[in-house]
Amino acid sequence: MSRHGIAIGRIFGIRIDLDYSWFFIAALLTWMLAGSFYPAQFKGWAASEYWLIGGLTSLLLFASVLVHELGHSLVARRYGLEVPRITLFLFGGVAQLQAEPPHAWAEFWIALAGPVTSFLLAAGFWELEPLMPAQPMLVLVRYLAVLNLMLALFNLIPGFPLDGGRVFRALLWRFTHSYHRATMAAGLTGRFFGFLFIFLGVWQALAGALVDGLWLAFVGWFLESAAGSQLHVEWMKNLLGGHRVADAMERNLLHVPPGASVEEMVERVMIPAQTRTALVTTIDGTVGMVTLDALHGVPRAEWSATSASHVMSPVAQMETTQPDAILWAAVERMGKGGVEVLPVLERGVVVGMLSREDILHYLSVLQGLQEWKSIDGVR
Ligand SMILES: [Zn+2]
Repeated sequence: MSRHGIAIGRIFGIRIDLDYSWFFIAALLTWMLAGSFYPAQFKGWAASEYWLIGGLTSLLLFASVLVHELGHSLVARRYGLEVPRITLFLFGGVAQLQAEPPHAWAEFWIALAGPVTSFLLAAGFWELEPLMPAQPMLVLVRYLAVLNLMLALFNLIPGFPLDGGRVFRALLWRFTHSYHRATMAAGLTGRFFGFLFIFLGVWQALAGALVDGLWLAFVGWFLESAAGSQLHVEWMKNLLGGHRVADAMERNLLHVPPGASVEEMVERVMIPAQTRTALVTTIDGTVGMVTLDALHGVPRAEWSATSASHVMSPVAQMETTQPDAILWAAVERMGKGGVEVLPVLERGVVVGMLSREDILHYLSVLQGLQEWKSIDGVR
């Protein structure tokens, strides 16, 4: 059981998760197919047949999406990338790779494997159709061929985060030798297609096809925001690249003794210094850290009777980093673990703190420097 969905099992050792939004879309799709689409297209089936074929169509469509993701996953494994899980959700599926592909051709083949798998599924259902004796099974197989073909073609649109966008990025990466430029270009085309879908969807909705139009606009919004956040991550990664934790960390550390009360600590140390963190230090060294967030659980009236050591997080139990660690790696660790502050240790002594604010501050400094350089023509 995860936070956003349920695990339904493992295939080839890869965990398969159903996001809660999947149940919504599977029910909606079944209802639309059985309630209106199939009855309008095909007359004379029994009521139970519309629901059976509607339900089977949506189940097998999602099974097809799962096979598409397995296509990506098995090729990723051939390049030595672990795939811990595949998640099926509102907009389809996603195979989560543990790391970025090692080189452009790896990315190219991993991305292409999904649409190729969908084309093969479409061909398979197409071949199966003449073997079906009659409606409604014949209709089921025919629509699955069409849906898999649409899945393959849609995913080949050359904008990130779609497979086509990854293929596009891989080719740019290969021929420009710049992962950064390739990612920025694929992200921008992803945003372009996102906006295009929103525009077309709204147009369609205004022209009368309300549900189809809103759905298209919704897909466009999802693509646009995924491409936008990829661009943002890549921008940060590029600016922070080559820098070390020591460059961005806070060096002005505030220390309080373990016996100091929370009231003293906040009013005499943290507020005057305008800081959100303080270190709890004994004569033997720093033993813990207190953040303002950790004080939310302590009522204001108890501040004078509560000691700093009581509310601190022990450094020995915290994730830490070193001054010469790669800054971007530390940022990724903080993002993945939901960590707000990393103590920076050198030979067991806390020499700095790296918080999200420190990183944002450093980013703004680097960005300022970059603008200055480009104005000056130094670049
Ligand atoms: Zn795919």
